[in-house]
Amino acid sequence: MNPVIIIGTGLAGYGIARELRKNEYSDGLVLITVDDGQFYSKPMLSGALGKGHSVESLAMSSADRMTSELDATILTRKTVTAIDTKGHTITVDGETCSYSKLVLAIGASPIRLPFKGDGAGEVLTVNNLVDYAQFRERLADAKRVGIIGPGLIGSEFANDLLGAGYHVELIGPDKWPISTLLPVQAGRALQQSLSNAGAKWHLETFNGAIEKHGAGYRTQLQNGTTVDVDLFLSAVGVRPEVALAKEAGLEVNRGIVTDEHLLTSASDVYAVGDCAEVAGRNLPYVAPLMIAVKALGKTMTGTPTPVVYPHMPVIIKTTLHPIVTLPPSPGSVGKWSVAGGAEGVVGRFFSPEGTMSGFCLTGNRVSEKGAMIKEMPAA
Ligand SMILES: Cc1cc2nc3c(=O)[nH]c(=O)nc-3n(C[C@H](O)[C@H](O)[C@H](O)COP(=O)(O)OP(=O)(O)OC[C@H]3O[C@@H](n4cnc5c(N)ncnc54)[C@H](O)[C@@H]3O)c2cc1C
Repeated sequence: MNPVIIIGTGLAGYGIARELRKNEYSDGLVLITVDDGQFYSKPMLSGALGKGHSVESLAMSSADRMTSELDATILTRKTVTAIDTKGHTITVDGETCSYSKLVLAIGASPIRLPFKGDGAGEVLTVNNLVDYAQFRERLADAKRVGIIGPGLIGSEFANDLLGAGYHVELIGPDKWPISTLLPVQAGRALQQSLSNAGAKWHLETFNGAIEKHGAGYRTQLQNGTTVDVDLFLSAVGVRPEVALAKEAGLEVNRGIVTDEHLLTSASDVYAVGDCAEVAGRNLPYVAPLMIAVKALGKTMTGTPTPVVYPHMPVIIKTTLHPIVTLPPSPGSVGKWSVAGGAEGVVGRFFSPEGTMSGFCLTGNRVSEKGAMIKEMPAA
């Protein structure tokens, strides 16, 4: 019998491999990854300095250890370039491999803005352990870090860098920090706390040009301010990896389209994690991913189990001003009702009919998470 093949060894790829073994799948299992297959927790990357983690200590298991733990074959530094869903084969660096079932756990890639200027090519992004190692290497000679993108990941990196004594400047067109997930009052409370720790914010202004300047970089903002730093990190969001699936004729939208059983538009091909759009929702976070791999492990071993998401608040690791948010779905009509101030904010999002469909808690109010979940209508 052909093996189950999983493309990707992130939290989703290794997660589903573990679930398959837990559910007593005992046939062949092959995992394939572009990287070196080390098992690590990606969310740790934006809080590692503060926790005193070296790059080496972030890698929890080597590909060799995962091979024996999972009783699997793990092909590292290999790229899957094509899928033939009718023939049940994939192409890996020119070779054809057959699968019984295929799982796409290929993640999401950082959005790369088309920066101008002679320093544009040296702007860093961090989306995996290899990127992070490069970032840490560059930090060793840096004192000033510019972060392009004052969203969730940018704010988390800013928090971490400030705690480690770096000078941080955050830049972006956004009106307030983490504006896609938070009401303005919550964003401002975070902005104030990070400012108190030394962060400089340049919101609603960025002209997209990064020039080399001495040993570092310079950007001239639309409002006339000049920002000089030793390195720039871009954190402007991620986009689900859909190219491979699209090329194979699978239905894609924002992510790889699946039904509630994680099945794509092709039989025996599943998608899970950041790359997947599950019953209309692409949720690039760990909690939905863990729920999805548990359900998929059962489905793939003979017990069809739909993904049922409970309310899953996102915990934002800005320790200087912690945040928990359950944002309303994108495009929701309604408005925030917000109370509190610099110490902490409580926000509830209501539809025009008065139904609560989201919340956020910041600072000294984050402990109210359980009570807020109870206020929400059933998921
Ligand atoms: C800095 C940072 C901090 C974060 N913090 C949080 C947090 O606090 N809380 C939270 O819930 N979420 C957080 N997230 C998001 C969370 O980490 C992701 O949702 C999760 O790790 C995604 O896992 P994944 O397995 O789907 O994708 P990935 O980890 O991206 O794995 C994708 C895998 O696919 C492989 N691959 C891709 N294409 C191919 C190909 N063609 N051939 C072979 N292999 C391929 C890659 O090599 C990789 O192994 C954070 C993300 C970042 C970047």
